[in-house]
Amino acid sequence: MHKQTDNVDASDIARFEALAHRWWDSQGEFKPLHDINPIRLGFVERHTSLVGKSVLDVGCGGGILAEAMAGKGASVTGIDMAEAALNVARHHAEESKLMIEYARIPAETLAQQQPESYDIITCMEMLEHVPNPAAIIQACATLVKPEGYIFFSTLNRNPKSFLFAILGAEYLLHLLPRGTHEYGKFIRPSELSFWARQSGLEPADIQGMGYNPLTRTYKITPDVDVNYLMAARKP
Ligand code: SAH
Repeated sequence: MHKQTDNVDASDIARFEALAHRWWDSQGEFKPLHDINPIRLGFVERHTSLVGKSVLDVGCGGGILAEAMAGKGASVTGIDMAEAALNVARHHAEESKLMIEYARIPAETLAQQQPESYDIITCMEMLEHVPNPAAIIQACATLVKPEGYIFFSTLNRNPKSFLFAILGAEYLLHLLPRGTHEYGKFIRPSELSFWARQSGLEPADIQGMGYNPLTRTYKITPDVDVNYLMAARKP
């Protein structure tokens, strides 16, 4: 049971628990995460090499990004609050013959236990699922080593993102199950930058991930209206 004070939306975690067996179906409910994976991996590598780095993936789910980073030579730990997702991630890493550590622990708790212990932190498509994203950002800032990198991705909050990410993705194109996202939890780039700075991080780069419904592919774009990525550094 989660305590009332935990920075966890229990109904959201329950949704991810129920879908756990679907993580690695690249045509299923998590298809968009599979589709954006190469470009977010490319975004990380645009800023820093993954070879030999210690990486923490916060809100790792079934390990889609964690495995890709391990495949690039990083030593990856994934944390999430959905145990079933972690079990799927553990089995899949074994099948992929990748050594990845997975644990069910809040980022805030890990930050108290192991400050400044990772070269790189990734926290992708996760902040829009938690009650207090600023606390997760602060935990990431504590967990990363000085001069380390943090990569966030999330959904912007404006009429266009409502149209594309909720009406379009959940109701018209059925890219995501209904109820996956809550508009009020979407995060503007200005808010993400503010929270990053408040945690002592320096936002370095923001790029959009644009979806083309005709080719059904994503690409990096300067348009941050809907999905976007941020790279930040700890001085
Ligand atoms: N980062 C992964 C999964 C994104 S889906 C990827 O992009 O491929 C969002 C994930 O965040 C889910 O696995 C969900 O269980 C997790 N999550 C939600 N709230 C969380 C919290 N408070 N702490 C850790 N993980 C959380």
